[in-house]
Amino acid sequence: VLNEEGIKEKQENLRSPICCIMGHVDTGKTKLLDCIRGTNVQEGEAGGITQQIGATYFPAENIRERTKELKADAKIKVPGLLVIDTPGHESFTNLRSRGSNLCDLAILVVDIMHGLEPQTIESLNLLRMRNTEFIVALNKVDRLYGWKTSKNAPIRKAMKQQSIDVINEFNTRLTSVITQFKEQGLNTELYYKNREMGETFSIVPTSAISGEGIPDLLLLLVQWAQKTMVETLTYADKLQCTVLEVKVIEGHGTTIDVVLVNGALHEGDQIVVCGSKGPIVTTIRSLLTPHPLKELRVEGKYLHHIEVKAAQCIKITAQGLEHAVAGTSLHVIGPDEDVEEAKKTAMEDMESVMRRIDKSGEGVYVQASTLGSLEALLEFLKSPDVEIPVSGIGIGPVHKKDIMKAGAMLERKKEYATVLAFDVKVTAEARELADRMGVKILCADIIYHLFDRFNGYLKDIKEEKKKETACQVVFPCVLNILPNCVFNKKDPIILGVYVANGILKVGTPMCIIKEIENLRVFMDIGRVASIKKNNNTVDSATKDEMVAIKIIASNPGEQKMFGRHFGIDDELVSHFSSRSFDILRANYRDELSRDEWELALQLENMFKIQ
Ligand code: GDP
Repeated sequence: VLNEEGIKEKQENLRSPICCIMGHVDTGKTKLLDCIRGTNVQEGEAGGITQQIGATYFPAENIRERTKELKADAKIKVPGLLVIDTPGHESFTNLRSRGSNLCDLAILVVDIMHGLEPQTIESLNLLRMRNTEFIVALNKVDRLYGWKTSKNAPIRKAMKQQSIDVINEFNTRLTSVITQFKEQGLNTELYYKNREMGETFSIVPTSAISGEGIPDLLLLLVQWAQKTMVETLTYADKLQCTVLEVKVIEGHGTTIDVVLVNGALHEGDQIVVCGSKGPIVTTIRSLLTPHPLKELRVEGKYLHHIEVKAAQCIKITAQGLEHAVAGTSLHVIGPDEDVEEAKKTAMEDMESVMRRIDKSGEGVYVQASTLGSLEALLEFLKSPDVEIPVSGIGIGPVHKKDIMKAGAMLERKKEYATVLAFDVKVTAEARELADRMGVKILCADIIYHLFDRFNGYLKDIKEEKKKETACQVVFPCVLNILPNCVFNKKDPIILGVYVANGILKVGTPMCIIKEIENLRVFMDIGRVASIKKNNNTVDSATKDEMVAIKIIASNPGEQKMFGRHFGIDDELVSHFSSRSFDILRANYRDELSRDEWELALQLENMFKIQ
């Protein structure tokens, strides 16, 4: 534990905290980033903001400038703030480096008009799983009816201008959000009322359109980080670096975009990166960042650096990076370091994920953009209310070879011959092959959408099977013949019946059970051709209903007659074969009530003994 002196000393030597933005779609993640960045007003460049590869860097002066109304001048100790710039791609926010979180903290965006949404909860669970601290941005406050805009103002100042109605609506919605968080087992509170930071998560009301609350959000992020994460944020020589993305860039070949969390990288460093075909040992040819005046995603002119110090996002060019795996750690081989040892370390991340594949060898094939997102997805698929087994994994775009691997399930379990593609592209050849082989590809960039799609697919398969087997399935029922309701004795037999048990359906083969010399004998009567209830034609009838049925002999030569082959005291029961029972169990089990299923088991047993 550090004493005051120790903390002070360390605070002199901090790196920038790394922050990511998460939340449900359309809550305003992109807009919030734009607003923090100030892209619309061009003040970005002036304030020294630099756009990096996949991130934006806010230097301390810029944060000071923007938070001056909060009188926080002396309180900012970190050199800046690095915000990972990929909202919507939760795959990036689950990135890790050396087993710990890559992001030091997160902003969880919630739309004040909508409260917690499915993906908010998904993000929340990810953050909790990773033990990542976060701040809730309660966004879109300007949408409260009657809101008076005060551009870029601290939130308390902005609130002072609002009418009592706006404040009331705000309070109601805030309380509701706090309650919803509570339902998720989490204490939250407005940040300026929060006396137990750490135990209780802070909420900062914001507008990404007019900028209210943005100063508060920036200051809180920085202050909280430097207060509670001194150890993690202390600049170290030991390298901590994670591969964000593997990309082919014209003129540079395959490059890797990395987040340098701690330490420094130099041109000419010998590095090891985890590759899908084994460890990659190579030398850094160049360290690149976008030209300051260029828009982030414009690829072209890059600035070259001889040395880069944490925290930064950079592009590395080097030879042999084709099979690098996004989401894994990058290692620099020091002068006294053993290359073989470094190679082993480099592959550890990948191996720990490989161990999560289902041992039975039966399951779906999962493909994700980074190791981190793959881990998150595997974690989700394993959770108790999901439980989808996984037989194989891949990282990066879906290629033909992945389809081949998924296709191995076609023989064993058709529904598992499926690729769950999470936030990755599918090559045209892969799609074509999948179509030809009958492998299903399900794509999504939100985990729970993938889950919904897979469930939808399972349902479709089930429906298909039902259709195929519809003419062979037999539902269990026991019928009593009603007195004075024999309308036709034969050809066809028409009777009034009482459904004593089970479910009566059109198409069911009916039989009579007779005991002859202690031997049970079944006599087939025919199939139910139609059912009428109160003179209306129906498809089925359930227990305790009284209906009229028409029975037609299954084979023309085997016609039976009421009064001769059977009588008023005989019970009619559905005739099960073991095949029809199997179909019932496989495809219709969940449609039957408990009693109906009990009856099915009873009847099946009876016919089996015969
Ligand atoms: P994302 O999907 O979370 O990245 O959401 P976007 O940033 O794309 O925003 C979704 C929509 O909400 C866009 O039409 C934005 O203009 C709008 N929006 C975002 N933030 C705010 C806000 O604070 N106030 C209002 N009124 N609209 C917002």
